Amino acid sequence: MTARDEIQGFDARHVWHPFTQAQTARPPIAIRSARGSRLTDADGRELVDLISSWWVTLHGHAEPAIAQAIATQAATLEQVLFAGFTHEPAARLAARLTKLLPAELTRVFFSDDGSTSVEVALKLALQFWRNQGAPRRRVLAFEGGYHGDTFGAMAVGRSSGFYAPFHELLFEVDFIPFPATWIGDAEVEQREATALAALEAWLARHARDAAAMIVEPLVQGAAGMRMCRPAFLRTMVERVRAHGVLVIFDEVMTGFGRTGTRFACEAVGTAPDVICLSKGLTGGFLPMAVTVCSERIYEAFLDARFEKAFAHGHSYTANSLGCAAALASLDLLEANATAARLARIAAAHDAGLKRLAACRGIARRRQCGTIAALTLPAADAGYTAAIGPRCAEFFLERGLLVRPIGNELYFLPPYCVSDEELQRAYDTVIEFAASSGQVE
Ligand SMILES: *Cc1c(COP(=O)(O)O)cnc(C)c1O
Repeated sequence: MTARDEIQGFDARHVWHPFTQAQTARPPIAIRSARGSRLTDADGRELVDLISSWWVTLHGHAEPAIAQAIATQAATLEQVLFAGFTHEPAARLAARLTKLLPAELTRVFFSDDGSTSVEVALKLALQFWRNQGAPRRRVLAFEGGYHGDTFGAMAVGRSSGFYAPFHELLFEVDFIPFPATWIGDAEVEQREATALAALEAWLARHARDAAAMIVEPLVQGAAGMRMCRPAFLRTMVERVRAHGVLVIFDEVMTGFGRTGTRFACEAVGTAPDVICLSKGLTGGFLPMAVTVCSERIYEAFLDARFEKAFAHGHSYTANSLGCAAALASLDLLEANATAARLARIAAAHDAGLKRLAACRGIARRRQCGTIAALTLPAADAGYTAAIGPRCAEFFLERGLLVRPIGNELYFLPPYCVSDEELQRAYDTVIEFAASSGQVE
């Protein structure tokens, strides 16, 4: 029995995989090691990771500086409880993040992953109002938005379509349309006007009971890399703010350079009251998240009594290995070489998408910084569109890892990806489009 057979045997008998229908899925690929943009499977075959392993790998896999920082930290202090205690990596990381973020965002609450950072943001927003003796209950979100799979995150992401078994248990959230746009879109202004009208109607009805709005700025990830224009978001935030409603930016995916600027809120040109960061925070090495809020929110929790405190925490809050990884990742992010890489990836996407302009069947080409996406033709659009897995297999046979969301194909590579690798990615799109009688 080969090592691969043994791994797959154990896996088939004992492992339950995320977002997977085990009865119909092909057996998972066992990955043995990874370096830079490449994964190596148990047979020694290489795959170019064009999706940063679900949007987490920032600079590259097994980045030596981050691996070293984690090893050093592990031999010094691996973990300590974070109530009543602190440590250098956490304090430094909090100071450093608040320096990178808009000046209004001053207080860092640590948690474990994107979902928990959203739970924290929602709970902070709701308790903020309650602590001031003026409880507000309503929360607004965008249609199609995705914020994670825990209960609060499911409530604000209920229109993403993943949560039918739980719908009646989710707290009430209001939704407005998301004005998605793409290259050559002639109707974006109309779509934005519709969204803003829906926002105005909601504010007119509910502003006095409105606690917060939550937004994935610029790019709705799990909805299929749907993109909107920064000026629209700025207008929206200003209108929401005018009513005192708190604005939460879920930058779990868009943070740390993905959209071209360090955080999407920089391009939007306005700071939220609360920001959620995770995925790329540790460079893709360890699960960790932060929810960063304004001093005004923090102060609303200060009181002589415990009752107003934020009674929330996780066993591994501010884990020191995660903090050490994040600090090392930020060193790399702030190096000039990374700015050059981001610009190079954006240029390669731009060139690649231009090549697809003449490609029959490919629609809604769009790009935001290091993220590029396009729509494949499908009779059965949506998350379960058959063309998605077919496209993924086609790429896999050519040594490229993609994971289309339904019929939305996207590239979201680690920053070390080469021009040649991206060119191969676009060549393969053209080949796939041409190959398929499947692509009508
Ligand atoms: C992935 C994601 C989440 C959830 O993060 P997890 O780490 O998977 O819990 C939340 N919000 C956005 C925008 C995401 O892309």
